[in-house]
Amino acid sequence: KVELQQVSKLYGQQQVVYDINAEIQDGEFYVLLGPSGCGKSTTLRMIAGLETISSGLVLISGQPMNHVPPSKRSISMVFQNYALYPHLTVEENILFGLQVRRIAKPECQRRLTKAVEMLGIGELLKRKPRQLSGGQRQRVALGRAIVSQHPICLMDEPLSNLDAQLRGQMRTELKKLQQDLGITMIYVTHDQVEAMTMGDRMLILKEGRVQQIGRPLDVYNRPENLFVAEFIGSPT
Ligand code: ATP
Ligand code: MG
Repeated sequence: KVELQQVSKLYGQQQVVYDINAEIQDGEFYVLLGPSGCGKSTTLRMIAGLETISSGLVLISGQPMNHVPPSKRSISMVFQNYALYPHLTVEENILFGLQVRRIAKPECQRRLTKAVEMLGIGELLKRKPRQLSGGQRQRVALGRAIVSQHPICLMDEPLSNLDAQLRGQMRTELKKLQQDLGITMIYVTHDQVEAMTMGDRMLILKEGRVQQIGRPLDVYNRPENLFVAEFIGSPT
């Protein structure tokens, strides 16, 4: 379980996240949804430990994480730009994190084989990132998250660089992957369709403040304010 208690963020004098409270259950697909600039990435980075928390608490399995470095949080993160190493091959990119963690070679190979099979990227292993399409890069970034075998995965708009058709296909694949692996997913997007089709629950942010938390259909049918209704496109 991942918990946020009164989590706030200030950059200098400017507050960008206000008192977020949320409880994300194990195995849940949890979406952070809101327009550009509302504080989604900031919130995700605070959960990952890539950004300090100005006030409040982030807990994982009941343990406060505020002063725990990212590498010790049992979390993997997929970034919007995929953050692949350009000079490494696909295989090296996928295994890099495991080598840093000094995981034994046979175990690395086992995990690689499994990830390659799940993602269908067997043909790509010797290529460099620049020799890949956007969708293929996306899969490699997912491969890195899969082999890490962390129980919690954070994703920041991972599909926003893809064309509409591939985005649709990857939505389904990502959701299935999350279910097959049984991991907890915290997924940032500004895309209502992604939130509605992939999320078990969603948290809607506006200007750093929580507007509503709930299951997609419940939010759609019973928006708590005009902003949510308009953003989700609820029938009037
Ligand atoms: P987008 O959908 O465009 O990615 P977002 O919801 O992820 O937006 P954030 O990146 O979390 O938004 O930014 C929230 C606010 O904080 C914005 O007003 C942004 O300008 C500001 N901000 C983000 N990072 C910094 C920083 N390092 N220093 C100062 N202000 C920042
Ligand atoms: Mg962002």
